[in-house]
Amino acid sequence: MIGDAGAVAWPSENCGDRRGGQTPSLVVLHYTAMKSAEAARDWLCNPEAQVSAHYVVAEDGRLWQLVCEGRRAWHAGAGSWQGRADVNSRSIGIEIANTGFHPFPEPQMARVETLLRGIFTRWNLTPEAVLGHSDMAIGRKIDPGPRFDWNRLARQELSIWPGRSAPGDFEADARRFGYGWKPGQEDALLSAFRMRFCPGASGPLNEADRAVMADLARRWPAPA
Ligand SMILES: [Zn+2]
Repeated sequence: MIGDAGAVAWPSENCGDRRGGQTPSLVVLHYTAMKSAEAARDWLCNPEAQVSAHYVVAEDGRLWQLVCEGRRAWHAGAGSWQGRADVNSRSIGIEIANTGFHPFPEPQMARVETLLRGIFTRWNLTPEAVLGHSDMAIGRKIDPGPRFDWNRLARQELSIWPGRSAPGDFEADARRFGYGWKPGQEDALLSAFRMRFCPGASGPLNEADRAVMADLARRWPAPA
């Protein structure tokens, strides 16, 4: 099994081949929204669930690997990134045990970080590869949620952190960066974007939002 040498192997049958021979170019972070890490792990191994992830990270830093990184796990579902659907075929999914209402404890964050460093090395990835489920499933998913510390990952070059560029057209820049959404989901787009890049922001779309989105589009544009 290609993966983290320190993980406990806990195989799930809920997986398949990556379509078109793709290899991982993205990492999608999730929270489990379940009572315990073990309950989430077991659900992701249950054939009835029809869902899985490559990894589950417990609050105390224990790590289980359910699916080989070379295989397609079923974590991302409907949605898109950089104009392409079937995110599962080109991503690695990490489920971080959290109810959605609690901070992510230090040992868990540290384990996520070492896991990401290994994934970057194995698949030659760079910080813009890391997404939240909320980024690629606008209007449908909000995990890993407002409690997740993206800035902490960015300080270790495990995610990106934008500055501000000259404000432009918010939606055009959002598409250029990679967001996909349907008509009527503009509010969901704004809240997903703020949850990740402008923590604590509220109210209608403003100049700061436009400046940050412009910077994302300028520095990390989707491949043409
Ligand atoms: Zn998720």
